[in-house]
Amino acid sequence: MNLDKLKPIASADVRGKRVIVRADLNVPVSGGKVSDVTRLTRLIPGLKDLASRGAKVIVISHFGRPKGRDPKDSLKPVADMLASLAGMPIAFADDCVGDAVTAAIANLPAGGIIVLENTRFHTGEEVNRPRFTEALAALGDIYVNDAFSAAHRAHSSTEGIAHLLPAYAGPLMMGEINALKLALEAPKRPTVAVVGGAKVSTKIPVLTNLLAKVDKLIIGGGMANTFLQAQGIDVGKSLAEPDHHETARAIMAEAKAKGREIVLPVDAVIAREFKAGAASSVVDVAAVPADAMILDVGPKSVAHLAKVIEGCHTLLWNGPLGAFEIAPFGEGTFALAKQAARMTKAGQLVSVAGGGDTVAALNAAGVTEQFTYVSTAGGAFLEWLEGRELPGVAALTHG
Ligand code: AMP
Repeated sequence: MNLDKLKPIASADVRGKRVIVRADLNVPVSGGKVSDVTRLTRLIPGLKDLASRGAKVIVISHFGRPKGRDPKDSLKPVADMLASLAGMPIAFADDCVGDAVTAAIANLPAGGIIVLENTRFHTGEEVNRPRFTEALAALGDIYVNDAFSAAHRAHSSTEGIAHLLPAYAGPLMMGEINALKLALEAPKRPTVAVVGGAKVSTKIPVLTNLLAKVDKLIIGGGMANTFLQAQGIDVGKSLAEPDHHETARAIMAEAKAKGREIVLPVDAVIAREFKAGAASSVVDVAAVPADAMILDVGPKSVAHLAKVIEGCHTLLWNGPLGAFEIAPFGEGTFALAKQAARMTKAGQLVSVAGGGDTVAALNAAGVTEQFTYVSTAGGAFLEWLEGRELPGVAALTHG
């Protein structure tokens, strides 16, 4: 995949054209109301830009995991919220293909925006069925993919359609890819990756791919316990995966062979209960009592990790260093996040982070805005870190 072949929609002539924008409107909704508008507020400037350049803007997206048409997975409440945030009328069509939709688009004035109903109400969407893809493509003259977070799926609206129309990358897609290029493809060295989270087993491909790309790899969270245990350290009742000792040892051996540094915690915040306000203490990792569990990295580790980051120019972060949702076990993650934010603000570091829990942890630390780029894409971000080609991005680089 040659990323230089991506065509940004910003440079296309869209006047009078029907422009299909694949957005990610799969936002959290509770009680019929959108509970987190981040994705929508990020999307709006790109839609308004197209409208102001005289396009008819047709927004398509999946929502939830419906099996066929299901009113509880309608995009109507999301379209209403989008209109209210944009401060302009946005039309809604209660299907995403067919004669009624074609007519609604024909009636849309240039500069108008319409949201179409959930693409997953049609079974053709997820199997990338040509007949459904053709029906979608027939609605427009140009296709724009602005949904990086859905680009790891080869569905009709994310992949198939890009082969049937002139295909462009939207501003959010370009932003996401440029940030990942900055962190992974052509970074300012030395580079460091922080990989945390619960389990080694879910992140083996991420660790392996990152080892080939970064200079230093910090491993934290529950997954660090497996690495410690694999070296013969007793981690008591900590979350760990003994089945993956071999994996951990293989990763350490590969790092050594490649001349990469793997950095593990040297001390830990431990507790006997996994609940908010549980009595906690700090011990060296070699001194975890048999009835205790590691729930965060300790202050010596934070100081050491901060030093490691201080010596680097690029940081890529996925996964918390501890059970950050439960006080006080977020302190290690928050402290390191603040350090990365300070260095970024001072122009010393390019910092790119992503993944659902990571975004929540950075938000809790209050530093999201200070990072160079924070991706809200979960699965797609991880697959990119794994070094996999995303079908929705690859399809934009053909032709
Ligand atoms: P992941 O989805 O793999 O990125 O894992 C994120 C989850 O890992 C969060 O819910 C954290 O609470 C959890 N986590 C991080 N460190 C630990 C730990 N030492 N023990 C238990 N859970 C942890």
